[in-house]
Amino acid sequence: MCHESRHVAALVRVSEQHYHSASVVRRDRTTPRRPPASGRMLINLLPDFFAVLESPDRLAAYQRYFDNHRRILQPYWQNYVIDPETPHFVDIVRSTMSAGHDDVSAMLARTDVVSLARTTEQQCREILDMDCDVDVVLMVGVGAANAGELVVDGRGIAFVCLEHFTGQTNAQTDGLGLDPELIPAWLAHEIAHVVRYTSPTSRSELRAVVNEAGGSYSYWDSGRRATLRELLVNEGLAVHVSRAVSPGHAAWEYYGYERRQYADVRQLEPVVARAVAADLDRRGLGLRLRYLSGGMSDEARTVDRYVLPERAGYYLGARLAEPAVAARGLSWAVRASAEEIVAVGQSAAMTA
Ligand SMILES: [Zn+2]
Repeated sequence: MCHESRHVAALVRVSEQHYHSASVVRRDRTTPRRPPASGRMLINLLPDFFAVLESPDRLAAYQRYFDNHRRILQPYWQNYVIDPETPHFVDIVRSTMSAGHDDVSAMLARTDVVSLARTTEQQCREILDMDCDVDVVLMVGVGAANAGELVVDGRGIAFVCLEHFTGQTNAQTDGLGLDPELIPAWLAHEIAHVVRYTSPTSRSELRAVVNEAGGSYSYWDSGRRATLRELLVNEGLAVHVSRAVSPGHAAWEYYGYERRQYADVRQLEPVVARAVAADLDRRGLGLRLRYLSGGMSDEARTVDRYVLPERAGYYLGARLAEPAVAARGLSWAVRASAEEIVAVGQSAAMTA
């Protein structure tokens, strides 16, 4: 899936396409069809990030980079790092700026990440019958999430942070060492979220939550307003979309698990399912954190004396969504309410 040949320098040219509006191109039916994906909204922050690293005053340069791309970087920080208005911002930036990013450069020299991103978006458009826009953002982050979704002013953003996709862990950047071939899988995962949150034909609770918040998604605020059922199904569907768009990886990689963790989650499925059952209709950030977030204490994940594996809800959510995906397809399921999805599973169980 990876193409060799492009170099970082080649990415600079691509970056000149920043902010071309995909929707303008698509709506202009009178012009001849463009080559596939040429006018899509791909936002490549890599050249600007590497320019920051080259700067004599990296801290000041990062601040300018942050200001220039505030629409993306501010919610990235708020949702996935820390509030950028707090003093700790400078510490994190300083440590990111002093980290060696040679592994990222080396990966970019042998991997055409721009093509990977474009192809992935196109595949998602087809598989999900996309009727909403998405900004696909390629960037180097500050060692937080490997990928994520945002909605800003009603427009969805799916981003990947390439410090995690170099194929080798990096203690300085906190890079996870994921294979670059997993970039499409994670991008597809985030695009699935964007469709669920922003498609005009989505019946999901999270779309309503995002609408009520004025077209804005927040991991924290949207997370506490949606039921646990919606949050689980939301992640499970993203796993299914990721598998459809980028097949062939090890089963656990679609969940972001280690091999061992995957075995544990599968073994504990009945326990997790029992624990979750009473909470499906409940809302609260604690539920998202317990079942779907990494980095929580064992105590926070203890249910019925079992310590649940981290992020066990990704697996459970995928299991909840499985019958609906099989019976109605991904395009329907991504837009269905969590109740509709669970109902397909129940009627499948009754006729079995
Ligand atoms: Zn997700």
